[in-house]
Amino acid sequence: MNKEPIIGIDLGTTNSCAAIVEGDGQVKLIPYKGGEYTIPSIFAIDDKGNELIGHEAKRQWQLNPRNTVYGAKRLIGRSYKSDVVETMRKIVQYPIRAGSKNDVVLDVAKKEFTLQEISARILNKIRDVASNYLRVPVRRAVVTVPAYFTDRQRQSVKDAGKLIDLEVVRIINEPTAASLAYGIRSLAENAHVHEKVVVYDLGGGTFDVSIIEIRDRVFEVKATGGDIFLGGIDFDNAMIRYVLEDFRAKHGVDLSTDPVAMQRIKDLAERTKIDLSSREEVPFNIPFITMTAQGQPLNIEMKFTRKQLEQLTAPFIDRTLQMVARVLVDSGLSTRDIDEVLLVGGQTRMPVVQERLTKFFGKPPSKGVHPDEAVAIGAALYAHSLQDDTNLRIQLLDVIPMAIGLEKAGGAFHVVFPRNAPIPNAKQLLGTTSFDNQTELSMRIYQGDGEYVSQNELLGDFNFSGIRPDRAGQVQVEITFDVNVEGILTMRARDPQTGREMKTTVRVTQS
Ligand code: AMP
Repeated sequence: MNKEPIIGIDLGTTNSCAAIVEGDGQVKLIPYKGGEYTIPSIFAIDDKGNELIGHEAKRQWQLNPRNTVYGAKRLIGRSYKSDVVETMRKIVQYPIRAGSKNDVVLDVAKKEFTLQEISARILNKIRDVASNYLRVPVRRAVVTVPAYFTDRQRQSVKDAGKLIDLEVVRIINEPTAASLAYGIRSLAENAHVHEKVVVYDLGGGTFDVSIIEIRDRVFEVKATGGDIFLGGIDFDNAMIRYVLEDFRAKHGVDLSTDPVAMQRIKDLAERTKIDLSSREEVPFNIPFITMTAQGQPLNIEMKFTRKQLEQLTAPFIDRTLQMVARVLVDSGLSTRDIDEVLLVGGQTRMPVVQERLTKFFGKPPSKGVHPDEAVAIGAALYAHSLQDDTNLRIQLLDVIPMAIGLEKAGGAFHVVFPRNAPIPNAKQLLGTTSFDNQTELSMRIYQGDGEYVSQNELLGDFNFSGIRPDRAGQVQVEITFDVNVEGILTMRARDPQTGREMKTTVRVTQS
């Protein structure tokens, strides 16, 4: 085994897992104690002040919902004012507050945490498990993120790694990683592959879809799209709403304000949903869910059929297929051009998801990748290709998921890189001073597909200083936008007349 291994980490919304290419060239998922491969992406502090991560945190979630953080991946790198944060505040029971950098902070057991700190703890747990398993300290990792992550979210994952001295050597997109697991079926055999694949990734919290052309060991993303608010949790919530309404109709009692009852319903809803993937009908019984005013115990006694679940959740699957259609248009391809549809994420086990994709593409999805493992395996393969002594050469050609651009007068969004622009990528803009003796120039940069900046996420306020003092319009400033292979933006500016670089500072201020 290499002294300094680079592991692949799938940092998931609900579960995380890690993998490595071992000395014999086999890709292995790193087992957690008891042989499980995934660790819940949950952090908690118990009433004695102990920090709990993973299974331990999940186990006590029911009893300690205010100090148990889940779904943190949806909040990382987001502005407090964004719609996403607003939605999360309504769903979760832990307190979400505004931080000082237009970010989000959480109060867990009266202690303040940034989202980077929470993610760092989960990454650290995965790293510890990997270090124990490999018997060498792990300091480097390739970490996957949803293709739909913005620049700021990607940067935040890198920052989380820094907090625990874990070098995130490369961020790669989850669907791209899954396509690696499919395309590199064997390290030994150098089989010729020339296929266009769709990766349909419906996990616990997010939906991602990418179209990727594989030419041997070149993986070129043609287009990508997604919805960071669409996943298995929404399927569970649709069932929970149904159960609550049924109970209200039968007993006139609203259970939604009772956290312990809600937790029990939530747990059973998810289990029932999963059972309905292999059975047509499943009972839904919870004894003593609450009491009447007279002290009589009340039970939930219902059943769910697969058909019922399908009806309740059809709108979510419709939304995913609309996104698949958009991504096909963006890539200039039709369903006939697609050789394989790869399923990733636990929610794709639901039979109707597979049936609807079969109808949409005119052929059943591939069985070529494991829905829970493909992302971590792809990350490990890519990590292996970055090792000094590797014989695996992979070329990833990815894209940015949403346009990057700047604010124009009146709040309009001026696109610099359109959605699906290939990365790495660089663009230059020429600006001039607008008043006499101007020495600084500021620009607000956003990412999103909205026509107005108010609909998009603020990436930062870039300030260029040290401009030569002169009359208005006499000095030019050449601004370079650089998006690296990870989808992370940096900017610089220079005076084209003198060639002198200006000083650039970035602030992520209140928008
Ligand atoms: P992931 O984020 O990929 O781990 O996906 C987790 C989601 O998949 C959760 O919402 C699970 O409830 C869901 N899931 C896991 N197994 C199944 C199954 N057999 N049928 C339906 N949903 C499932």
